[in-house]
Amino acid sequence: MSHHDFSEDDLAFRQTVLRFARERIAPHVRSMDKAAVFRPELLKEMFELGLMGIEIPEEFGGQGGSFLQSVLAVEALATVDPSAAVIVDVQNTIANNILLRWGNEDQKRRYLPKLAADTVASFALSDAGAGSDAFALATRAVREGDRFRITGRKLWITNAVEAGIFFLFANAAPDQGHRGITCFLIERDTPGFKVGKHEDKLGIRASSTCELILDDCLVPVENVVGEIGKGYKIAIETLNEGRIAIGGQMTGLAQGALDHAVAYAKERRQFGKTIGEFQGVQFALAEMATDVEAARLLVYNAARLRDAGHPFVKEAAMAKLFASQIAETVASRAIEVLGGVGFTKDYPVEKLYRDAKIGRIYEGTSNMQKLVIAKNLLG
Ligand SMILES: Cc1cc2nc3c(=O)[nH]c(=O)nc-3n(C[C@H](O)[C@H](O)[C@H](O)COP(=O)(O)OP(=O)(O)OC[C@H]3O[C@@H](n4cnc5c(N)ncnc54)[C@H](O)[C@@H]3O)c2cc1C
Repeated sequence: MSHHDFSEDDLAFRQTVLRFARERIAPHVRSMDKAAVFRPELLKEMFELGLMGIEIPEEFGGQGGSFLQSVLAVEALATVDPSAAVIVDVQNTIANNILLRWGNEDQKRRYLPKLAADTVASFALSDAGAGSDAFALATRAVREGDRFRITGRKLWITNAVEAGIFFLFANAAPDQGHRGITCFLIERDTPGFKVGKHEDKLGIRASSTCELILDDCLVPVENVVGEIGKGYKIAIETLNEGRIAIGGQMTGLAQGALDHAVAYAKERRQFGKTIGEFQGVQFALAEMATDVEAARLLVYNAARLRDAGHPFVKEAAMAKLFASQIAETVASRAIEVLGGVGFTKDYPVEKLYRDAKIGRIYEGTSNMQKLVIAKNLLG
């Protein structure tokens, strides 16, 4: 990978994550994909390496790192396993960020050390009837003294099998539309809360995606994150940031596919030459590498704008839109470079191709990203 003007710390951090991905995760990628399970001991190692609390301040047991470092970790993991990448993505760029930005001191003290040490978190916004139109969510929260009674069903919740904490959005004042949406921190063992069906997916199969069932789930008022009725703002702003790291995930995925294609092109011989000696293959690799580099620059630029406190929403949407497109095409072309073996599960590129598809769907579909970009253009 080229240098991109990183600090020594950033480079060392990325190298550590890459080594972990290649040495520890890679041997299990195929079996985890087949079984649709992420191995608990790998999750434990990700906590021990500090990958689950990258931006959490050191006083709470985290790494005190930057958003860019979270993106670098997601990207590096995705070169080997986009499922591992999305676990780290949701934890850092969504869940931890919610608490860091909107949690009160008591909530930070209670939960940040757990999130850094051993507790996985989920972000639960989508309902069956509320996807792109997320604020149409039908999950309801009714105040009863010092508690809220929450009822509804959440769908598509990443990390739900492993999570101990759920940042869940419910409407506490449906007559006020999206201004009733409130963010609740719900612990897994809260009575009335249950993790439901585990989805059987095309890609990122080792990343759990589940339904959540809330039947008269009683949550104390002190577990409201931010203000009552301000959950829509928390959701929008978190997703605006989070999608930069999804761009990172897709860039890493594409880099992984390209690496496999390059290695294969140097070894596979046909017509008495390595296939990398044919200009037709060279040009494919050159175009793939250019796509990956372009996506990476969009992603790093958006992450750096965010870290520097500059406007970044348009750039974030562009990064995710573009990176998810090139992930799909680069992985597809990598399969072609490998020929027949690329189409089998004996080589990792068919899985990367399947994993790429989700990039255009979650954290806002490609159409939603285009709407954000167009809104920025047209005002
Ligand atoms: C593997 C996976 C993991 C996920 N993880 C989470 C999670 O952790 N937390 C969470 O809350 N959600 C999660 N989601 C949900 C995800 O964010 C939604 O699936 C996504 O936002 C799209 O919503 P939808 O599936 O309802 O599709 P729909 O909104 O029904 O969209 C269907 C199609 O219509 C298009 N469309 C819709 N409205 C418009 C419009 N106004 N203009 C143009 N086109 C439009 C869309 O672009 C899309 O092509 C996950 C989903 C998946 C599949």
